[in-house]
Amino acid sequence: MAVSLPVIAIVVPCYNEEAALPISVARLLGLLDRMSADGLVSPDSYILCSNDGSRDGTWGVIERLHADDKRLKGISLAHNRGHQYALLAGLMAVKDLCDAAVSIDADLQDDPEAIVEMVKLFVQGKEIVYGVRSSRATDTWFKRTTAHAFYSLQHRMGLDTVYDHADYRLMSRRALELLGEYGESNLFLRGIVPQIGLDTAVVTYERHERVAGESKYPLAKMLSFSIDGITSFSAKPIRIIFVVGLVLLLIDVLVAIYIFSSYFAHSTIDGWTSIMLSVWFLGSLILMSIGVVGEYIGKIFNEVKHRPRFAIRDRLWD
Ligand code: UDP
Ligand code: MG
Repeated sequence: MAVSLPVIAIVVPCYNEEAALPISVARLLGLLDRMSADGLVSPDSYILCSNDGSRDGTWGVIERLHADDKRLKGISLAHNRGHQYALLAGLMAVKDLCDAAVSIDADLQDDPEAIVEMVKLFVQGKEIVYGVRSSRATDTWFKRTTAHAFYSLQHRMGLDTVYDHADYRLMSRRALELLGEYGESNLFLRGIVPQIGLDTAVVTYERHERVAGESKYPLAKMLSFSIDGITSFSAKPIRIIFVVGLVLLLIDVLVAIYIFSSYFAHSTIDGWTSIMLSVWFLGSLILMSIGVVGEYIGKIFNEVKHRPRFAIRDRLWD
């Protein structure tokens, strides 16, 4: 009996990648050829370039590559929205037209060979396969250190992200459908995808240098991405304010004892006692009040996201 081979869609977000795209697309098409020759994927598998409002000739390059090989498809966003949005647009475009989608950056810093392993795990029934960097040797010391600080901060804030995983991953059609239910506009896919659940696996790979062009993620963009990542998933920073206010209020008792004893020992100047007492008490009360107000805002923040409240995994229904 002939088993039908899975159609794999490789989704590539592209912003000003005219230099890298021809090289990357050629390598990815070669990889698809090889995998379909090995009987791993359907020959109908394809690549989708999601052009993120590039200002250079990226779209022209995509059109040319599409004319050469119809397995290279393209969509173009109306304007530059950022990597996460270009990627989501691509994933939603292939959702009903593939069995699984792999997302990878246009610069092939993430070794495309790992796709073979991802697809094998998918065939074995895994729904989400995360690509995880085995080393960060090609990153600068600065990028390595800040990235590690970022991951541990995320975890402390209660996010479920996968360590050293960027957006290089395979998602089954079912996982893509569930992803489509997340209606939030502040996108941080690395936080959303682990929330989906389902069976997951990890593939490790070496991170390389860009094949061409330069990074589209300068420090400022990276920083704002990290802040979005935490504030879109966690109301913990608000709770920290509340807890600090509460702790200060407890410390106030000790401070008050000190202030009063100084007063009774006549070792203070006029007005010091009342000023000190009001600064400490009012300060901690204000912090706690902001925390309380913040807790409500945090609840509103979680409600307005209209995230799906559950995902059904299996169904026995007849
Ligand atoms: N990218 C995008 N929109 C942007 C910035 C980047 O679609 O506004 C794409 C870019 O073309 C690449 C991927 O996101 O495919 C990752 O960007 P880059 O390699 O520049 O980031 P780095 O690897 O340096 O963090
Ligand atoms: Mg890169």
